[in-house]
Amino acid sequence: MESGGTGPVTEARCRACGSGNLYLFHHQRGVPVNSCLLVGDETEAIRFPTGELSMAFCRTCGFIQNDSFDEKMTEYSDRYEETQAFSKRFVEFARGVATDWVDRHDLRGKRVIEIGCGKGEFLTYMADAGIGSGIGIDPGVDPARIDPGYEERLSWVPGWFDGSYGPLEADAIVCRHTLEHVAEVQEFLTLIREALGDRLDTVLLFELPDTMRVLEEAAFWDVYYEHCSYFSEGSLTRLFQQCGFEVLGVTLAYDDQYLLLEARPAGPSGPGQSAPDDLERLEKGVDHFSSTYRDVVEAWQSRLSGVAAGGGRAVIWGASSKGVSFLVSAGENVVAAVDINPNKHGMYMAGTGHQIVAPEELVEIAPELVVVMNPIYIEEITADLARLGVEAEVIAV
Ligand SMILES: [Zn+2]
Repeated sequence: MESGGTGPVTEARCRACGSGNLYLFHHQRGVPVNSCLLVGDETEAIRFPTGELSMAFCRTCGFIQNDSFDEKMTEYSDRYEETQAFSKRFVEFARGVATDWVDRHDLRGKRVIEIGCGKGEFLTYMADAGIGSGIGIDPGVDPARIDPGYEERLSWVPGWFDGSYGPLEADAIVCRHTLEHVAEVQEFLTLIREALGDRLDTVLLFELPDTMRVLEEAAFWDVYYEHCSYFSEGSLTRLFQQCGFEVLGVTLAYDDQYLLLEARPAGPSGPGQSAPDDLERLEKGVDHFSSTYRDVVEAWQSRLSGVAAGGGRAVIWGASSKGVSFLVSAGENVVAAVDINPNKHGMYMAGTGHQIVAPEELVEIAPELVVVMNPIYIEEITADLARLGVEAEVIAV
């Protein structure tokens, strides 16, 4: 693993705006190409294929892309376990978003298409909130895992959304935590715009991570191979406008970790109001990430080696992408990764081979330190530990 300096202009073009005004600010080798795949064998996990991060910032539109991303290296199959539906906190949030979207865009009785529906939970929340019907498109969708009670209203298309799908005939297009996995973002949005044709009333509802916070906190655990595209409020708005949409609003949600965007095809009057000007702040953030990354990694390494040196054990809580990314850089003195999703128990973390254990196993592990991979779950996790009688220090990244 290494991090390069800032500055070199890459040969690549920006996959959002097409300009060649790119600037490399972070380089890292040995990054597992997939961090949500279930790996049942420790050796296979340790030998998991790796790729490189060559993070490039576009000075023209503020978009950030991994120049070294190769989509052939990723796999989104039914082995892909991305669901957060085992967390009460996350489910409450997602249900709130579903209800809010249905209310504000008057989607009761209407038809919704979700691109990148994952395991399909969100469409079931929208069905509960009153939509008439829904279609979920995703290569990893597993209809067998969805409550048969939704069969009449929801249907599933296993596969990618590409040119073969045909017209998008719906009142709303939902796309959550998907755009950041798409490399050719301009092509993807153009495809959606074309598939909408003259349906100017269809609303687009997108949810994805906000990158400003990641840059300003040098949150290295939030940068990983599967996320090849990184957006801020401004760069996301600029991309949508460029692809023929009018952006109705972008807001921050989930403790300011996610961007929620609402848009619709632009009418004859054009894309509407201009995008927030965050280019200067983004560039500062990029420089901060680049210059602070090494210090942040080392601070975690030293904290964890301190625990081990004193004869204690440390675990991380959250065996998903952030966890994989954290362990690859700072996991040497971590004994296990805890997760509440039973589908992951007994599996291993890609890249480092840490075993994924159920919270109950912490009784025996008796950790001195629990590092929570997302601060939003601290309360939930502290309550779980208290219930188990595990006395550990709990801190979040
Ligand atoms: Zn650009």
